Amino acid sequence: MVESPDEKVAVVTGSASGIGLGIAQRLALDGIAVGLFDLDVVAAESAAAKIRGDGGAAMAVGVDVASRDQIDAGLQRVRETFGPITVLVNNAGKEGFRRFLDISPASWNELIAINLTGTFHCCQLVLPDMIEAGWGRIVNISSSSTHSGQPYMAHYVSSKSGMVGLTKSLALEFGPAGITVNTIPPGFIDTPMTRRNEGKGRFGPGGIDEAISRTPVGRAGRPEDIAAACSFLVSDEAGYVTGQIIGVNGGRNT
Ligand code: NAP
Repeated sequence: MVESPDEKVAVVTGSASGIGLGIAQRLALDGIAVGLFDLDVVAAESAAAKIRGDGGAAMAVGVDVASRDQIDAGLQRVRETFGPITVLVNNAGKEGFRRFLDISPASWNELIAINLTGTFHCCQLVLPDMIEAGWGRIVNISSSSTHSGQPYMAHYVSSKSGMVGLTKSLALEFGPAGITVNTIPPGFIDTPMTRRNEGKGRFGPGGIDEAISRTPVGRAGRPEDIAAACSFLVSDEAGYVTGQIIGVNGGRNT
């Protein structure tokens, strides 16, 4: 069995808010140094300061995952501070909600650029560190809409479904290098994104309560639910789990 590095270093994208923030906090509690990448560097810095205040190691970097150059520069800063990166969580994402016939090519391209191509860039730029270490963990945060499809979200669901295919292909290609690659498709997690959707009436007139009534476990998910699954997937014990879709959705998709 390949030994994992003594000091693990993670990058979590989109970690100033919601699910990514929950994941960054959890990985720091697990003893992993975390680079928080986000468009909102002020919020990311305040999240990193809180993690440091709680005894963890964290730094914030302003990165738009649609920009390969910004990712490259951000990764370099994390390496200079903490060392080679052996854990990557691709969480940054943007949703879209529009009738298919009204989705503009620009809007299609934007969602693909952030959700799918951003994940491609991050994986391609971090994998050399993992190959060198002979150990690595990648977790891609996709969406439960990839199980079910979702009307008015064809661009979003297509980008997230691409992340699932990318996950499976990388798992096969890099398994022999000691690297696992899995995806967590969250379903109905209470985050700022979900609250924005509620505000736009996307859960129906009953709002979040209506969505909860369609959720077998009878509550909305929390960022901590995704973080717990992610914590397992990046652990040493998860070395035999790769190429998998680990749904965390309260039973909404089975
Ligand atoms: P959120 O609360 O909106 O957090 C997303 C974070 O990503 C925000 O801090 C956002 O920054 C950042 N971000 C957006 N675009 C970025 C970019 N181009 N580069 C860097 N950072 C960027 O959303 P969430 O609900 O936690 O969602 C996290 C992930 O889970 C997303 O990929 C989402 O698609 C997926 N997901 C969520 C749910 C759910 O129920 N919440 C369900 C399925 C999938 P700004 O706020 O500055 O834009």
